[in-house]
Amino acid sequence: MTTTSSLTFLPVLERIAEEMERTPGRGRAADYIPALAACDPRRFGMAVAELDGTVYGVGEWREPFSAQSITKVFTLALDLAREGDELWEHVGREPSGNPFNSLVQLEYENGIPRNPFINAGALVVTDRLQTRTGDAAGELLAFLRSESGNASLDFDKEVAASETAHGDRNAALAHFMASYGNIDNDIPVLLDQYFRQCSIAASCADLALATGFLARHGIRADGSRLLTRSQAKQVNAVMLTCGTYDAAGDFAYRVGLPGKSGVGGGIIAVVPGRCTLCVWSPGLDERGNSVAGVAALDRFTTLTGLSVF
Ligand code: GLN
Repeated sequence: MTTTSSLTFLPVLERIAEEMERTPGRGRAADYIPALAACDPRRFGMAVAELDGTVYGVGEWREPFSAQSITKVFTLALDLAREGDELWEHVGREPSGNPFNSLVQLEYENGIPRNPFINAGALVVTDRLQTRTGDAAGELLAFLRSESGNASLDFDKEVAASETAHGDRNAALAHFMASYGNIDNDIPVLLDQYFRQCSIAASCADLALATGFLARHGIRADGSRLLTRSQAKQVNAVMLTCGTYDAAGDFAYRVGLPGKSGVGGGIIAVVPGRCTLCVWSPGLDERGNSVAGVAALDRFTTLTGLSVF
């Protein structure tokens, strides 16, 4: 859905794309599954979506990539919309300070993961959404299709199969939490839902549009309400404090916006009341965040003066 109503930030995006082109050292693509390892770390795209659904971008902003942990934001919102505050009895909202796939805090915190954006927390959220809907990944896909206006969005079967084949760590997290009674569904069912969720392929344009409800204080693209204003604020707050794993402090310091990264190299970000962004570049730093993605968002907030601070 591209219109010509206002492309306010296009010159800024063009400048950032030029700067990224000249920047050496882009990190390494995720290598835990072959489908991601094959990505050229220097690819780059960035999109802005305005509140009215106008979307524009630079570079490969229409190229689908593996959304991975970015989807954790949408499953959180979909579950929170259904069950409200009860969710927070099963998952916390504190930064973990540990890698996204870490097990260590679960034992001394009774199987309650620190937040919904590390893998353990996302597994709990997907489990609860699965209990409420019978098809968590299907709900997520339908939501992304409708918010982006892109009916061709889909799961990537090769990525999902690869995640399953290399899924021991996530299986361990799920079993460990189940031992504390914090998982409802059978573990193979939950893992299948979670891996399909991670595998969704979407572009910067799709994901910037799908994030719009967080900039519109809970209102979906069609004008209906998904979250209360207060819940939208809560999701944005958890993105700011936990959205980039053990680099969330640095991300808040550099970018100053709620953001969520994925190991596919994408990052979404929200300027509440103004616009949303999505940037993609597959080269990651050692914490699993896109090197050029963080740099581009850093430049965006510096050049525009926009931030939540
Ligand atoms: N599929 C990945 C996993 O569960 C997602 C992790 C991520 O994007 N940080 O390990």
